[in-house]
Parts: sequence; structure tokens; C-alpha cells
Amino acid sequence: MQALQLVGDKDLRRVEIDEPGAPGPGEVTVRIKVVALNHIDVWGWRGMAFAKRKMPLTIGAEASGVVERLGAGTSGLVPGQLVSIYGARTCGLCKSCRESRDNLCEHVSGVHGFHLDGFAQELVNLPARLLVPAPPGCDAVGAALAPVTFGTVEHMLFDNAKLQPGETILVHAGGSGIGTAAIQLAKRHGATVITTVGSDDKIEPARALGADHVINYRTDRFEGVVRKLTKKKGVDVVFEHVGKDTFAGSMLCLKRGGRLVTCGSTSGVSTEVNLMMLFQQQLKLLGSFGCRMENMADAMQKMARGLVKPVIDTEVGLDDIAVALDRMEGRRVFGKIILHMSSDTAAAG
Ligand SMILES: [Zn+2]
Repeated sequence: MQALQLVGDKDLRRVEIDEPGAPGPGEVTVRIKVVALNHIDVWGWRGMAFAKRKMPLTIGAEASGVVERLGAGTSGLVPGQLVSIYGARTCGLCKSCRESRDNLCEHVSGVHGFHLDGFAQELVNLPARLLVPAPPGCDAVGAALAPVTFGTVEHMLFDNAKLQPGETILVHAGGSGIGTAAIQLAKRHGATVITTVGSDDKIEPARALGADHVINYRTDRFEGVVRKLTKKKGVDVVFEHVGKDTFAGSMLCLKRGGRLVTCGSTSGVSTEVNLMMLFQQQLKLLGSFGCRMENMADAMQKMARGLVKPVIDTEVGLDDIAVALDRMEGRRVFGKIILHMSSDTAAAG
């Protein structure tokens, strides 16, 4: 079967590998339909030197597929069913896993596509409990975006930042995959949404998703504009994932008692924090990673009901992956880059 494997620095290849054997007890064989690309795939492509990475490594941290074969002791799934796949291999046994808070698993063996082989392969055996059925009305692209793009954001906004209707939120990088999800989820929840983009051509698309105010951070200081828009009060919540370049400014944007929630650091992992501002303003800094299974189900329900929609920049097949990763690295993207694993669906985009 076909797979996309990273074999060295910037050396990503389409390779032929063996199909998995019969699914073991509690396992399901899934035929992968769609892989959505993330920065984690770009890290891999750049060959960034994170510790203990095995090569070759199959890429792909976020995917959907169709149930092909059921192992012994699996229930609630039927062959042909579309499923969304959890991105990490959690233990299923610890307290956090038993409470369906798998992203706090005490014995996680790794993130797929980074520590462990990812989903850019035609067939894969996975524990049934890490698969979430897609409801009618949610297609393979939507289901592929549930674990990271929408699930992560659901978890950040509602579990961690506890965003309330009527509050104001600043969403950084509104044209990124998670930015497009955050604008929609926050707006549908009844929040006022301010977002930043890196070029004027992204302003209208961001508005169309529901952003009330869009700031081009290359031409305006976002801190100043946010102060003006909120009449010097600041926002209730900042949705961070840019890191070094924006973090100090993000803290300045918060109102007293405001919450900053972050899931990424694409511009750099270290920054200075003004501690006096942190305690005097009673700010809350919240780190967030991954999501709960329920966040995936919630996200797919919202897609099925037409409340939110996947925002797709480019759809490619297996042969065009280098073009897709190059486009992603260049930050020209608005929304997600989607990889169709089988050629019959690749022509759709
Ligand atoms: Zn666990």
C-alpha cells in the first residue's frame, strides 16, 4: 500500500509499505480517506531536531477514514462507517483516559505523525476507542478536521478559556487552519470576534467567517487597534498560537481578569512575561494541547448542522504533497490544506 514517509531532512517520499495484518483485540482497520496537514507536518519536513524521532516516519497527525475490518471485542462501529481519528496514542487506562480526557493521559505513547507513524497511509490498525463516528451530514473532510483543527479549538475556547456569549475575543492569525475554526466557533457562541491577518487579501475572507473586526498586523499594531476597538478596556479572551512575536502584545490586549489561551508557538517558543501585569491585572494564562473525545464529537455535530464549516485552501493528492507543504510553510494559506489518500477523490479540489 501507499504511504508518505519522511526519510530524512526535507526528504518526504511516496513509498510502498506492507499492509497491516488483521486487527488485534479492541482494534479496527481503518481505510484512510483524508489527511489534513498541520504545522507538525512542516516541522517534520524541515527535519527540526526534536529528540528521539524515528525515521522513516509516516506523516499525518489529523485524519478521517472508513472502518474496514473489526477486531475482537469492538463495539459501536460497523464496516463502512466514517470515523474521525484521535491524534495521539493514549493508554485508555489511566484516570484521565477513563474520564475521556485523553489529552492529559499519564502514559501517552506519542502523537501520530510526530513520535509515532501518522495517518498518511492507505490502511492503519487503531484502537477502536480512539475513533469517533462522524454523524450524518459531516463528510470525510469535516471528520478529518475534527481532532486538531476544530477539536483543539473547542477545547481551548470552551473547556479552558470558558468563553461566554457576549464576551470579546482576539483570535490571532485568523487565516490559519485553527484561526478559521476559532473565528467561527467563537462567533456562533455569541462572542464579538476581533482577528488578525497578515495580508489585505485575507481581510474579506475573515469577515465572511464571522469576524467583526479584522486587523492587518503587518500594517497596524494589533495592540493599539484592540485598545481602540474595546474603548481601552481590552478583550476577555485572547486566542494565541503565534508565540514569541505576539505574546507580550496579547497580554496587553487583555482586560483585567482576562484569559489568554495558547496552543502553539509558530514564531518562537520563548518569550518574556511581565509578572507585575500578570498579577496586578489578574490575568490567566492557559496552556492547551489536543482535545477530549467529546470535543471532536461536538465539532462534527456543529459541522453537520451547518453552524461551522471547514475552510479549505488547497486539496491535493499523494503526488502533490511537496507543493502543499511548501505552500503551508510560506504562510500564504487561508484555511487548511487537505490531502486525499485515494486518487478517486483527489480530483474534487
Ligand atoms: Zn491514559
